[in-house]
Amino acid sequence: MYDYLLVGSGLFGAVFAHEMKKVGKKCLVLERRDHVGGNVYCEEKEGIRIHKYGAHIFHTSNKKIWEYVNQFVEFNNYVNSPVANYKGELYNLPFNMNTFSKMWGVVTPKQAAEKIEQQRKEAGITNPKNLEEQAISLIGTDIYTKLIKGYTEKQWGRSCTELPAFIIQRLPVRYTFDNNYFNDRYQGIPIGGYNVLINALLDGIEVRTCVDYNKERKEYAGVSKTVVYTGPIDEYFNYQLGRLEYRGLRFETERLEEENHQGVAVMNYTDQETPYTRSIEHKHFEFGIQPFTYVTKEYPADWKPGKEAYYPVNNERNQELYAQYAKLAAKEKNTIFGGRLAEYKYYDMDDVIASALEKANAVLNHC
Ligand code: FAD
Ligand code: UDP
Repeated sequence: MYDYLLVGSGLFGAVFAHEMKKVGKKCLVLERRDHVGGNVYCEEKEGIRIHKYGAHIFHTSNKKIWEYVNQFVEFNNYVNSPVANYKGELYNLPFNMNTFSKMWGVVTPKQAAEKIEQQRKEAGITNPKNLEEQAISLIGTDIYTKLIKGYTEKQWGRSCTELPAFIIQRLPVRYTFDNNYFNDRYQGIPIGGYNVLINALLDGIEVRTCVDYNKERKEYAGVSKTVVYTGPIDEYFNYQLGRLEYRGLRFETERLEEENHQGVAVMNYTDQETPYTRSIEHKHFEFGIQPFTYVTKEYPADWKPGKEAYYPVNNERNQELYAQYAKLAAKEKNTIFGGRLAEYKYYDMDDVIASALEKANAVLNHC
């Protein structure tokens, strides 16, 4: 008999389990993959940690969360500064004075702002209603065309006019020469990799891998007072209201006999024609000096049931369907739903940790 049965060993499940273990609760974690860690899991090859489910850079402005993760692992001083490759033309990201100067030859922030204002006026956008209008109104048509349109349409498999504006609002626009992709105060990669963090969180907790709770639910019925479910919410309810949509990804990793392939951890391919969106040279996350390298190309893919669900597709249809599933979830006795799949949310790692801590505290304060 356990106090908590946790379905999923990603950050949500691992943090929640850790908090419960700390106060003496007995936890069992079930994970359907053959390893723990969810999407932050890294596979080590010849001393280089491969971000198996996509590049993960930890960043937060939440001091409490930064201190929380630093209890378990130290972080290095990696700062994410991806480079955009548009048909062989290279631009710094996020959109900043280096990008503007390369794009237009402008020298001062005033000249860059004037150029953007002129392009925004020409496009006639006053009240942006979709991603295309939002992007043009933020950084003008040239940058939209070369650095956003192709990447975004590949990534989401939809036209920028059909996508919500908030997706692009994730990216900073700066009138300084600053290539740091994030505005957050704290940033880095765990020294030794994300597995160190996950293993420390799950230390002393019983974990069973290769167990799919949704397939073996009968066997686990009644083994705990409470279930914490972090898998896809529609799957939990056997798709009774219909299927939520996700965006899929496919990764191709190769070992190259060269020390430094692209000179940066993340290179974004922003044209329409290159079939992948990003190329990741993993060693640069940890300042590796091996004489060889591993590079992963990230291909966006249509998602089908049974495939890994990477990104929730945030359109009206899916949001409405999720809201109906959330109503069913609220009625489910002794079950907590959390994390990016169960809440169908485009969560960053720090948000997931904050949410797990909040839900764990709410339960503990209620006891
Ligand atoms: P997950 O990590 O998905 O964990 C859920 C776990 O539950 C999985 O291991 C799954 O196998 C398991 N599971 C599901 N159903 C069942 C079942 N029925 N039975 C048993 N187990 C089950 N965030 C950042 O902050 N920075 C980044 O740079 C960043 N990059 C990202 C890149 C990509 C490509 C993606 C997709 C996400 C990225 N994120 C990033 C977001 C980050 O991955 C998530 O915020 C975080 O990993 C979510 O944790 P989670 O526990 O909610 O979900
Ligand atoms: N984006 C873009 N060009 C780029 C990088 C990002 O147009 O070179 C857009 C794209 O729509 C993407 C969004 O900005 O979905 C958010 O980018 P982010 O890097 O935060 O995406 P994630 O890491 O979540 O995949």
